[in-house]
Amino acid sequence: MSVARRFARISSAARPAGRRLLFRRAVVLGGSVAGLMAARVLSDHADEVVIIERDDLETLTVTDEQIAADPLHAVPPRPGVPQGAQVHALLPAGQMQLERWFPGFVDAALETGAINPPPGSGRFYLDGQLRADPPTGPAMQGLISSRPFLEALIRNRVLALPGVRVERGRAQGLTIAGDAVTGVRWIPEGSEQAVEQDADFVVDATGRSTRLGDWIGEYGFTAPPLQRMGIKLNYATAIYRRPPDPQVWTAISVVTAAPGRTARIGGFTPIEGDRWTMLVSGYADDRPSRDPEDYQRRCEQDFPAEFGDVARTAERASEIATYHQVDSRRRNFDELDRFPARLVAAGDAVASFNPVYGQGMTSAMLHASCLSDYLRGDPDLQRPATGYFADVRVVVDAAWQISTMPDLALPHVDGPYPPGYPVLQWFGRLMAQAAAKDRTVNRELGLVTSMLAHPSSLARPGLLLRALTATIR
Ligand SMILES: Cc1cc2nc3c(=O)[nH]c(=O)nc-3n(C[C@H](O)[C@H](O)[C@H](O)COP(=O)(O)OP(=O)(O)OC[C@H]3O[C@@H](n4cnc5c(N)ncnc54)[C@H](O)[C@@H]3O)c2cc1C
Repeated sequence: MSVARRFARISSAARPAGRRLLFRRAVVLGGSVAGLMAARVLSDHADEVVIIERDDLETLTVTDEQIAADPLHAVPPRPGVPQGAQVHALLPAGQMQLERWFPGFVDAALETGAINPPPGSGRFYLDGQLRADPPTGPAMQGLISSRPFLEALIRNRVLALPGVRVERGRAQGLTIAGDAVTGVRWIPEGSEQAVEQDADFVVDATGRSTRLGDWIGEYGFTAPPLQRMGIKLNYATAIYRRPPDPQVWTAISVVTAAPGRTARIGGFTPIEGDRWTMLVSGYADDRPSRDPEDYQRRCEQDFPAEFGDVARTAERASEIATYHQVDSRRRNFDELDRFPARLVAAGDAVASFNPVYGQGMTSAMLHASCLSDYLRGDPDLQRPATGYFADVRVVVDAAWQISTMPDLALPHVDGPYPPGYPVLQWFGRLMAQAAAKDRTVNRELGLVTSMLAHPSSLARPGLLLRALTATIR
């Protein structure tokens, strides 16, 4: 089966077909987007699903109604997810997966306060030029909210499932007998003593700094190869009060690197509670600070006029939150010869990308879909979950290619370069140029950037010819 077809299977919107019990107890380490989605899938296969999370999710859990009544205070960012204060866009493929696993999710989110801006109220700028038809078109509409809001709605639905519960504490390791995981070691909140919890299946969803490699290393297994691309990304996000009916609801500005031009991405999107969340970013030494004057100056000088308008006229409703991400990284579990059975990793623990492409949460949701396919495919649970990791690789490759190709064009990024880089680079530029002139190419590219299709789906002779014709024209 081609990777494009495999990707289509993984990202399918088809609802799961009932429960298929495999485990007495499954344990998920980390209760953020990847962990919650994994728990949703596991609830179809285990009597009991235990999420071990270091943050106090129980106190944080408030109902949809409470969120709708007080969206400004009901769901604050939490310490375990420091990126939660930054702009988070959900790609259309992620939205589709949420609807798949929680039917009615999108309507409920909109009723609770998420925003679907009016058609035509978004602006997309590429290198300072307003583009009528942005390649990320579908991503600019739909379900827009803050990250804590979205996570809270997912959490409400997962914790309402029979058999799913949260334990607060810090995961510290695994227990492994022979070649299979038998449980986890963790320190409950308020205790100094590690305890063991038996499990028939374990998912590591502890994020990009996972210690899974060390944990399996204690039992003589090798950590997965870690590939890194140094991107030195700097984010700064502020929240503003939004008038009820602004002319422009959303704006995104992408400036690519070129001689005399500094690569920068910025955007503002409407979120629950009549607010905007606005991002300005830079790379390497171009580092926005928490100083309001610096932030305002950047909005006015480095981005299209709409950014300055918001910063000047709207009331700022938050401190400026900054975030530095050193690298994009991936762990290639599928390349290991030996790995414990009954253990998988999901979400950022597998791969975490330059966030400007908005792929992280959607990838985590697609990993959950890989887990479902694996568990429904009659797996041999005495052997490593190679089928799962092979599918996850398809998802990671797709996101990695879309995010690292443009990142490799940044002057401070020096690899690693993929095989055939010059051809891929030429192809990427061709598609980007053709998308500005041809609606079909634009739509196909949009499907790929919104993770609804695999990048290899662009390499069709007919589409290539169309792109070439469009650029020559
Ligand atoms: C600045 C920034 C902006 C981003 N913007 C976007 C965006 O626009 N769109 C998008 O889709 N994605 C975005 N992302 C990525 C997104 O945040 C993640 O991909 C997403 O949160 C899924 O991650 P995760 O659940 O795998 O890990 P995380 O969200 O990092 O969560 C890990 C969880 O594990 C818990 N944990 C960690 N260690 C332990 C332990 N030992 N014991 C118990 N619990 C533990 C943590 O408390 C946390 O809850 C962005 C990321 C960054 C950094």
